[in-house]
Amino acid sequence: MPVKRNQPKTSARGNHPRRRTTSSNTPSPHLAVGSGSGGSVTASRLSEVPEWKVLVLEAGGLPPQESYVPGLVGLGYFRGNNNWDYVTEPQRHGLRNFVERRGTIPHARVLGGSTTTNGMLYVRGNRLDFDHWADFGNPGWDYDSVLYYFKKAEDYRGRPTSETEQYHGRGGPLVVTPEPNTGKLAQAFLYAGMELGYSVIDPNGRDQIGFAKPEYTICGGLRCSVAQAYLRPALRRNPNLHVLYDAFVYRVLFNKHKRAIGVQYNYRGRVYTAYAKKEVIVSAGALASPKLLMLSGVGPSPHLKHHKLKVVADVPGVGQNLQDHLGVYGLTWTIKPNSVDTLDNVASLEAVQRYVHHRKGPYSAPLGDYGSAWVKVTEGGYSSFPDVQLYLSPAAFNMDMGLFLPHIYGFDRNKYNDYARPLFGRDGFTMNLYLLRPKSRGAVSLRSKRPRDLPVIDPNYMSHPYDVETLIEGIRFAIKVGNCTSLTKRFKAKFHDMIVPGCEGIVFNTDKYWACYIKHMASSFWHPAGTCKMGPDTDPLAVVDNRLRVRGVRGLRVIDASIMPVVVSGNPNAPVIMIAEKGADMIKEDWGIYDHR
Ligand SMILES: Cc1cc2nc3c(=O)[nH]c(=O)nc-3n(C[C@H](O)[C@H](O)[C@H](O)COP(=O)(O)OP(=O)(O)OC[C@H]3O[C@@H](n4cnc5c(N)ncnc54)[C@H](O)[C@@H]3O)c2cc1C
Repeated sequence: MPVKRNQPKTSARGNHPRRRTTSSNTPSPHLAVGSGSGGSVTASRLSEVPEWKVLVLEAGGLPPQESYVPGLVGLGYFRGNNNWDYVTEPQRHGLRNFVERRGTIPHARVLGGSTTTNGMLYVRGNRLDFDHWADFGNPGWDYDSVLYYFKKAEDYRGRPTSETEQYHGRGGPLVVTPEPNTGKLAQAFLYAGMELGYSVIDPNGRDQIGFAKPEYTICGGLRCSVAQAYLRPALRRNPNLHVLYDAFVYRVLFNKHKRAIGVQYNYRGRVYTAYAKKEVIVSAGALASPKLLMLSGVGPSPHLKHHKLKVVADVPGVGQNLQDHLGVYGLTWTIKPNSVDTLDNVASLEAVQRYVHHRKGPYSAPLGDYGSAWVKVTEGGYSSFPDVQLYLSPAAFNMDMGLFLPHIYGFDRNKYNDYARPLFGRDGFTMNLYLLRPKSRGAVSLRSKRPRDLPVIDPNYMSHPYDVETLIEGIRFAIKVGNCTSLTKRFKAKFHDMIVPGCEGIVFNTDKYWACYIKHMASSFWHPAGTCKMGPDTDPLAVVDNRLRVRGVRGLRVIDASIMPVVVSGNPNAPVIMIAEKGADMIKEDWGIYDHR
């Protein structure tokens, strides 16, 4: 297909970040691939420099209207609905109750990336996450240094205490709102934590161990994606920012000095080239960024040669070090009928009207009653460093009568129904449990040299025994919470203790049983990270240095979830936004612009 040395000259207006494309062939100083947490934030900040033209290329389209409504959050998880439909390779060590032992990872393909469809939970992780990143040989990434960027990004709408005030930012682009509708179930969850000796915490304050009400990236009852928070206002303010959606980037182009000079992309069936005078920034997410680097000739040389790709730089770590939070599904409790507002009764017509007219009520946040807890369930190590997270969800595992969950998560429908059928029609709650810092490591590699082919994703879940052992302790802790009097007395909570399909014959509630349960019922919690690891020269798997520059080439950075050396102890959106805020400042500094702080 001939390569056009220009760019499409279309423009459109609407209730979204405008598509504003370059109308000339002038190269942009900076070119960002992907408009998710990494790309939108970086590009918006770079466009604050009036002399720089910044072009964002995004493979997806405009966000659908329903994505703005927090109460409709789950719609974006459906396959084919603005997402890449990533599935993992069959997992040798687990996922036994999932179709072909594959997990689903519904990363978004839309303006705003995963922030347009994600669960909106705002969680920064633990200060030790970042201190350890720095200890690995990445100066400038310790907690005290990155806190500035968390605060810079944030516009906190909660009421911090005098102790937590110093951790929150005001006036940043990203609006963070505490759960507006805490109900009886979430309250009981917090009381259960207190019964067990935990405090109710601000999860983004000083301490992370404890129980908390969720905080969301929601503004005035609408989802606050990075497209809304960053791109849209930047497009209004900065005429030098250009965004082209439906633009699928095929590869980064290099000159003979191994300097990135632009990208080749497909826009509605035609192939174009866009040039970058200064830098190309790859922010395609932890599954697509390594793929794009490899298609561009940057990656492990044997793998590139195997696919008959020209090697620009042999960087063995590209695609390696894949980490993902491993989630245990199906830990569910039945409760007394009508004792709480479960999903089906909050989603009423009246609630819809209230939302439409006032942006208030149940639809102004994820529907129902949620709570989170971060706890340490293993012995040894830092007492302030949790190893699992619990997420209370206000429905039994049957909430959808088997219609949607198998499709979204990839459960084998028969096995799912065998386990969940006794729960059909019953009120209840579920505790999703996930492992914060798995020790298993997987990889992303190329399926072929065709850009449209999805990458081979092998998280290698549960290959390290620590992961299952820790989750067993996590399950025991979750059951303790569910059996606290605040949940049993008031709601008559009763654990769904049916033997899960595949573990028949093993004595219930033994370690052996829970190990079996995990191997059948645990899968991705949708937080892949680490595939373009940040690290020093001495680290053979490091892909970017501490200024996020790709090794072995010039003019190319990666700024997204893939640079995390170790995945953070919480939901990763806020940390990726922090990475991008810091990344943008580093780019400015490296080009001699110092007036940003
Ligand atoms: C279903 C789901 C729910 C989640 N819930 C939460 C939550 O509640 N809280 C939280 O903190 N985190 C959550 N996360 C995780 C969080 O949203 C992501 O970790 C974070 O947004 C990742 O940011 P990123 O920039 O690395 O990638 P993304 O935000 O995924 O952005 C990558 C962008 O690059 C584009 N792209 C990819 N390839 C190309 C290409 N070749 N050409 C052009 N564009 C390309 C993609 O379309 C996408 O827009 C969730 C994730 C998922 C999938």
